[in-house]
Amino acid sequence: MATIELNDLTKHYKQGSTNVKALDGVSLNIESGEFVSIVGRSGSGKTTTLDLLGLLLRPTSGQLRLDGVDTGKLRDGARADLRGKKLGFVFQEFNLLPGLNAIQNVMLPLRYHKNGKDGKARAATLLEEVGLQDRMHHRPDQLSGGEQQRTAIARALINRPSLVLGDEPTGEVDSETSQQIVSLMRRMNREHGVTFVIVTHDMDVAAQTDRVIRLKDGKVVSDVRANADQTYLAKLERGEGAA
Ligand code: ADP
Ligand code: MG
Repeated sequence: MATIELNDLTKHYKQGSTNVKALDGVSLNIESGEFVSIVGRSGSGKTTTLDLLGLLLRPTSGQLRLDGVDTGKLRDGARADLRGKKLGFVFQEFNLLPGLNAIQNVMLPLRYHKNGKDGKARAATLLEEVGLQDRMHHRPDQLSGGEQQRTAIARALINRPSLVLGDEPTGEVDSETSQQIVSLMRRMNREHGVTFVIVTHDMDVAAQTDRVIRLKDGKVVSDVRANADQTYLAKLERGEGAA
């Protein structure tokens, strides 16, 4: 179960003589089981935030705690272990290996980390859950974009992660497929009790999540919850929380 705590997190990049403040003091908590979207214009710090959550980057300053663990105190090896054990990733470009079929792709993370036995049976069950029971032995080039992303979602769940991260997971598919993908993530979020944090440009996708966090210039400018806030959709329509 993921409880994520960001405490005054910053990430600065040096570019020549200038210092880019990609993330400029972000503090927020995400509770276990939430389905959160991060929105904002290009360059607002969305990918940087997700890469920090994914332990792919280290912050310049501030704290990131995952389930109470201060990740900044961990060495690279321990961070990689934590990543393999607790995190799942879904990418814009699906990132399936072209030479492997769907079930082999879903099982791929098991090469690096194994939570539990019977990886193959679990991979098959997950492919059934995402509606690909008839596509298990198809290679990526024999699958549609939506089918490839559903395979990638099954892959993200194979190690029973507590948190799945997605950077523009619907960025490469048409709007109808986007809705199917976000509905599927929603269902997996509920059925598996997995926290999801996704970056999206698409407000129809964001509107299906529990909570929309908007970034601007590396800062949180709005944080709107669906359940706590009856005026959620009205706010989204007014552009608060909009990309
Ligand atoms: P978003 O995903 O919202 O488009 P990013 O997190 O990718 O934003 O980038 C935030 C800011 O940090 C941008 O100004 C971007 O140019 C800058 N940036 C991102 N990655 C790097 C990097 N590796 N080196 C230098 N600047 C970077
Ligand atoms: Mg980005």
